[in-house]
Amino acid sequence: MLGEQIIKGMAVTARNFFGSYVSKERLTTVQYPEEHLAQKENTRQFPFLVYDGDDWEKGLRCVACQICEKECPPKCIYIVKSKDKKPDYKGQPQIYPLTFDIDISVCMSCQICVEVCPFESIKMDTKFELSTDDRFGGLLLTKDKLAKSNTYYQKMHPQDAAESDAVIAGEKAKAEAKAKAAAEAKLKADAEAKAKAAAAAATVPIAAPAPTPPPPPAK
Ligand code: SF4
Ligand code: SF4
Repeated sequence: MLGEQIIKGMAVTARNFFGSYVSKERLTTVQYPEEHLAQKENTRQFPFLVYDGDDWEKGLRCVACQICEKECPPKCIYIVKSKDKKPDYKGQPQIYPLTFDIDISVCMSCQICVEVCPFESIKMDTKFELSTDDRFGGLLLTKDKLAKSNTYYQKMHPQDAAESDAVIAGEKAKAEAKAKAAAEAKLKADAEAKAKAAAAAATVPIAAPAPTPPPPPAK
């Protein structure tokens, strides 16, 4: 019955209201901004770029492939590729982003950039207190502001970060196995070439002695 449901609902409200004076669990609000509620693991606001190690410039995972830039629906990502290369997380020479900007006044937090990135480089942050009175510059996040460590990511999204770490570890192991196999194949080819050269040197025919000239005719 409708009346019964209303009374039940009011009873829950009254229990929480009066209970909140004696029990903190009954409090459904916090004194924001002094207090914050804990963020849920899957909360997402705006993207950030992940880097490994202590140096954000060296450790940035992004290889400037520009897939996220192409796929971003409102086109709020802007990337300029480098002309030179630097080692990526697998130790292989890679192009890197000279410029990587995201205009968060346009970003709609859809996470498509994260879904399409093949390099586990871009993830969603949970930070939301980003308001500013600088309408343009303040909301344009440049590479240095976007870069956040993998440790930060692991703390914020432990489950997702563990999956990313596993993917990267797998890629690294594959790259190392490939490099090892290539080095072994090169060593084997060098050894075979040396052996062939030695065998060829051993079978060179020894020059026959010069024929003895005939004795001079008797006088
Ligand atoms: S979250 Fe969506 S809108 Fe924002 S940068 Fe990524 S793809 Fe673009
Ligand atoms: S963030 Fe990912 S998809 Fe975007 S340019 Fe970098 S590597 Fe490519």
